[in-house]
Amino acid sequence: MRWILLIGVLAAVSLAAFATPFGGSGPDLQISIRQADEADLAVIYEWRKPRREIVLDGVAGGYRERRWEIETPGFELRRFVGSDRIVRTDGKKFSRVELTARPDLIRIEKEYQPVARYGAGGALVFTGHFWPLTAPKDEGGGRVNASFDFTPAAGGHVVAFGANEAALADWRSPMAHPAFVYLGPLDPVETDHVMALIDPDAPGWIVDEFNALVPESFDKLAALFGFTPETKPNLFLAAPLGRDESRLSYAGDALPAQFQITLEGAAWKEKSDKARGIFTSATIHEAVHLWQAAARPGTEEAPEWIHEGAADAIAAEVMVALGEWDSAAYAANERAARTECARELDTGSLNGAKARGDFRALYACGHVIALAVSRADGKTTADFWRDFIERAGDDGYSEDMFYDLVADRTGDRDFADALEDFARTPLAEPDRAIDGLFASAASLARERGR
Ligand SMILES: [Zn+2]
Repeated sequence: MRWILLIGVLAAVSLAAFATPFGGSGPDLQISIRQADEADLAVIYEWRKPRREIVLDGVAGGYRERRWEIETPGFELRRFVGSDRIVRTDGKKFSRVELTARPDLIRIEKEYQPVARYGAGGALVFTGHFWPLTAPKDEGGGRVNASFDFTPAAGGHVVAFGANEAALADWRSPMAHPAFVYLGPLDPVETDHVMALIDPDAPGWIVDEFNALVPESFDKLAALFGFTPETKPNLFLAAPLGRDESRLSYAGDALPAQFQITLEGAAWKEKSDKARGIFTSATIHEAVHLWQAAARPGTEEAPEWIHEGAADAIAAEVMVALGEWDSAAYAANERAARTECARELDTGSLNGAKARGDFRALYACGHVIALAVSRADGKTTADFWRDFIERAGDDGYSEDMFYDLVADRTGDRDFADALEDFARTPLAEPDRAIDGLFASAASLARERGR
């Protein structure tokens, strides 16, 4: 009886999939993105079946309200907590809506830029902010079954992962995840390790450093993690330096099999120890994310300090392995993380830091936790992540999974519990709490002869 029921259900599903006016089982939504003027985009949403709304993830600072203009009459964008929605003002269903999306005037912090100017005549699009959800994320919404069409301005290319085309039609990310897509005149450079898109305005010394650093750091990371990522990564390097001689800003964003670096400030023009140090360690930090992406957070709640702090810790391990840092430089980096973490936790708990806007806590305190674990289990943070990736499997990781792995590797549940308290509780004296973690880690290592 159960078998018959099951077969009946399967037949109904496959009929539903094929019995559509369009034929075949295509996407529910087609999203067309055309480069209208540098980073201004003409966007069309076309549903296969009429819907009452388009639900989009929330972007900090009311970005869409300020920078998106709906061109189709009779529509509006409504802002909710955690989502934006596009609806008809009369509440009726619709199949098609057109809008113009412009880049934000400022860099949105700790957020992928929805669309940004990228070198002369170029735009870098983050598809996640254009790709609707089936429901708001806090109601368990996932991504709509959608495919994208990308059309660059005349004479330009579209670059996404291994693709470099005059246009892309019916495109979906090979990573089944939001991604960066470049539209514009630049040609990518493909090497054994990466497909790279480098702004021709980037200073020559930066390009030389980048070309030397990528192969050597990628080889080190492959050895430390014990594997090479399946997809050849896409790297985007932009350098809208501007005129401010005192500014030396490095902003990086990583996604599965992609990362982008934006350098701002005229202090990048000349090679200096400071500029080179920041460029090298920050680029390795972003590269670490390409390997960490083999383990995805299983829920929205998995705190970012888990991967950001580990990326800082592993980047430091790579800096030493490459001979960039001696033991004194490594120790100075550790002291800096401890000091910064203590300062950041003066205003509240680590797990509450992102909501407070204390983004540096995610890096510095995540780094402190990674260092304490490494001290306690006598292994590198890269080694911890080899295990962590395996545990995370296809379902992804959680904060609890992190503490469980710490308990298993150190053989001490109390130490894992102490880390949990450190992350979840506001601390009266953060600097003493940090010293306490390192003291427990050291005595644990001594006890177990590590
Ligand atoms: Zn990062």
